[in-house]
Amino acid sequence: MLKKLQKQGNKAGFKRTPQRLAILEYLEGNLSHPSAEDIYRAVSRKYHSMSFATVYNTLNTLAKGGAVRELTIDPERRRYDPDTSRHHHLICVDCRKVVDIAGDIAVEIPKTMAKDFTVFGNHVEFYGHCAPCGKKKKKKP
Ligand code: ZN
Ligand code: MN
Repeated sequence: MLKKLQKQGNKAGFKRTPQRLAILEYLEGNLSHPSAEDIYRAVSRKYHSMSFATVYNTLNTLAKGGAVRELTIDPERRRYDPDTSRHHHLICVDCRKVVDIAGDIAVEIPKTMAKDFTVFGNHVEFYGHCAPCGKKKKKKP
């Protein structure tokens, strides 16, 4: 995704600003679905002049342009995914870990239930406890 952006640059509708590249560099291959706060914490370590507002605005621009996917799976904060391909997610309701579900799940709704919509996609969020949080739960009386 980063390489694509570096190559395409303006063609993809993006100016290759240092801020955008820094954020994309951090997100490249990142599987943790970080929040804007996480991204700011990591990126500002290297780029000291980068403000939270810049990170936040840059993420909005990148999401609008389709370079990153914005996830609303975590009710407390928006999370960002560099993997823009269609995939579903699991979230741990305790530690808020968000994990990709690899592979396709057949999710379809009958035409009658789709009303007059043309359905072209879906995103399923599964809630639960991750293994470490599940263990902690069992230990408690
Ligand atoms: Zn957990
Ligand atoms: Mn994902």
